[in-house]
Amino acid sequence: MDLLSLVRKNIRALKPYSTARDEFKGTAEVYLDANENPFPSAYNRYPDPLQKKLKERIGEIKNINPTQIFLGNGSDEAIDLIIRAFCEPGKDYILITEPTYGMYSVCAGVNDVKIKKVNLTVDFDLDLNALQANLDGSVKIIFLCSPNNPSGNLLSKEKISKLITSFNGIVVVDEAYIDFANAEGFLPSLSNYPNLVVLQTFSKAWGLAGLRLGMAFASEEIISVLNKIKYPYNINILTQNTALEEIASVKEKDKQVKEILEQRSFLIQQLQTIPNVLTVYPTDANFVLVKIKDAKKVYHQLIDRSIIVRDRSTVVLCDDCLRITVGTPEENGKLTETLKKL
Ligand SMILES: *Cc1c(COP(=O)(O)O)cnc(C)c1O
Repeated sequence: MDLLSLVRKNIRALKPYSTARDEFKGTAEVYLDANENPFPSAYNRYPDPLQKKLKERIGEIKNINPTQIFLGNGSDEAIDLIIRAFCEPGKDYILITEPTYGMYSVCAGVNDVKIKKVNLTVDFDLDLNALQANLDGSVKIIFLCSPNNPSGNLLSKEKISKLITSFNGIVVVDEAYIDFANAEGFLPSLSNYPNLVVLQTFSKAWGLAGLRLGMAFASEEIISVLNKIKYPYNINILTQNTALEEIASVKEKDKQVKEILEQRSFLIQQLQTIPNVLTVYPTDANFVLVKIKDAKKVYHQLIDRSIIVRDRSTVVLCDDCLRITVGTPEENGKLTETLKKL
């Protein structure tokens, strides 16, 4: 597959901004090359534009070469850049499988890129025939989300593999919730798929949504295209340092994930005892999709009692559905007790 031929013409021709740190990479005593304030503080110097130290650590814990890692201001930055790199505005399409995460459409819309939508099956898996019928030369990127938001389930790994190998374009598999799934996801097989981009994030299992740090893993060719078009200093020093500290205490994250999974079982079991709850969908994430009688009314009744869940009742295939994040034992108890009394 000729990946470069998939890249937009103007991006292929683009000469990226070269930072002072790009032009001199060694260490020196005196830095008078970047118009920084010379008086030392934690932040007077620009950050490393390619976040080498952080990528090395992430590479170690994910078992991936640092040259196959892109870091963004949240995975949302990676979603936006992938669309900008591969889709000609006003002409090309992305394909999404509904119901799914909203940012793929928003980023496409901002970039004037068109959207083909194919519904998932009723049990929220890929409909390969419907997908194939919608793939033509104008579709440049397929966005898949596994575990899927808002349904919570992993998509079939075999179907995803088939799609990646048969499609002459980029396939993005968004694994924001993979730490909560009893599955390894697509990172270990990244080298089999030159056109695959795997997205992960520090926002969910790592408990760092406020830090804004997302990861994209892909072939070196794709990563270098993203590096070429990103803002030069997209990850600030505070975020890079904090992420390094958090990775050093990965055991804390693992402990919290384990506790969230225990709470998920508790929440599911409690929800199943509530008469108005019609379906608790299977989940591989840190949330549950629940079909409940008069969902919209229940949503507002919960707000009146100071409990906020996500109303997904107007979303395709999600009639009368609420999406509920797994909280602390107290929060989950308060939610289920409240639902029982409504
Ligand atoms: C929460 C979420 C993300 C995370 O986005 P960030 O910008 O990294 O916070 C990505 N994809 C999906 C499907 C999500 O639900």
